[in-house]
Amino acid sequence: MKILVLNSGSSSQKSSLYEIGDAIPAHPPAALWEGKIEWEKREAKMQIRSADGANLSKRVQAESRKDAVGLLLDELWSGETRAVASAAEIGVVGHRVVHGGGEYQQPTVITPAVRESLARLAIFAPLHNRAELEGMEVVEERLGGVTQVAVFDTAFHSQMPGAAFVYPGPYEWLGQGIRRYGFHGINHQYCAEHAARMLNKELNALRLVTCHLGNGCSLAAIQNGHSVDTTMGFTPLEGLMMGTRSGSVDPGILTYLMRGGKLKAEEMDELLNEKSGLLGISGVSSDMRQIIEAMKAGHARAKLAFDIFVHRLRRGIGEMVAVLGGMEALIFTAGIGENSAEVRAAACEKLGHMGVKLDGRKNELDGEDREISVAGSATRVLVIHAQEDWAIARECWRLRTAVCGGRRMASSPRTV
Ligand code: ADP
Repeated sequence: MKILVLNSGSSSQKSSLYEIGDAIPAHPPAALWEGKIEWEKREAKMQIRSADGANLSKRVQAESRKDAVGLLLDELWSGETRAVASAAEIGVVGHRVVHGGGEYQQPTVITPAVRESLARLAIFAPLHNRAELEGMEVVEERLGGVTQVAVFDTAFHSQMPGAAFVYPGPYEWLGQGIRRYGFHGINHQYCAEHAARMLNKELNALRLVTCHLGNGCSLAAIQNGHSVDTTMGFTPLEGLMMGTRSGSVDPGILTYLMRGGKLKAEEMDELLNEKSGLLGISGVSSDMRQIIEAMKAGHARAKLAFDIFVHRLRRGIGEMVAVLGGMEALIFTAGIGENSAEVRAAACEKLGHMGVKLDGRKNELDGEDREISVAGSATRVLVIHAQEDWAIARECWRLRTAVCGGRRMASSPRTV
């Protein structure tokens, strides 16, 4: 079965095509086709790579974001980088949906009713949910009645206990949907399952802390195969320090800045989401590579940014372990987690009392998914590459196979 995955961001659209046969392979296979489009105003930059090594890079003119996505999908069945003879070869399309609110706890077949409820949930994540809905419309226009599936970033956290997801504000907040949802769930779940495989243990027998450290950063505490706590909350702004996001700050700062109308909500939003974090503190960059480079060159604010990042990361890991009552494995993933030996070493430096013992040499090596703790470390430390698109493809395959044994199911869609 060929599965197309759409991963919509506010300023980019990624898409991949996978093929899964009778069973899900243990290791993620290479995508048959990968496309990406990034746009600024009316110009979009398209990049495509097919499995046989063909590459395409071009600028395209598009009236809207939606048109740009349509042009990207057209490349799947036309031109030198095409991967299928026609759209009919695609059995199912999976969408990464950032916010599923409290309603969606599983990958779900998209019906008109589901789309309507996703449109309602757009108040919680306006940029993302709108882009995702547009992606669904484009697929319908280009691929007709193909089965479309929403895979939610919030779903993996949906079994958090009340103590973890209810904010200690007024009780009425809960009824208004103001609660902790958590994000990055697709990758936290993938890492947990992959870690169990790497450690040759049952997932249910493991207490894991997964550290998703990319431009956005979050931790998850995982027990019995579910997230029982996480650092992001109502929005992806809570928790750790990030590239341009502050993470958690005293809400009293916000009321202090807003008092007397000195700062409007939009300005506050911009300050906390785009002008804070590594960029805000260092004044250099939101990119951890540049922070480390500047820090090594003696830039004091870059060093402060690095130190805050690590301090908050270490503190967050401690909180997650306290929630779990112990941890069998600590997992680093996403851009910083996978590539920065400095961040991993600094984060683990004071975790010896939790049984974490890094192997300095293994930590410095690049490459595949691997263990970086010393042999006999009570807590195993793993690096696992984020494979969001593959994880979405896998969920689509599972859902499709469970619901209709692989038959086309567009005529009888249902929410699972
Ligand atoms: P996104 O959340 O947008 O998917 P990524 O997972 O690609 O982001 O992570 C981006 C972050 O990863 C950036 O801060 C980047 O600097 C960092 N990163 C990538 N490679 C390295 C590296 N070799 N060393 C340190 N940080 C890295």
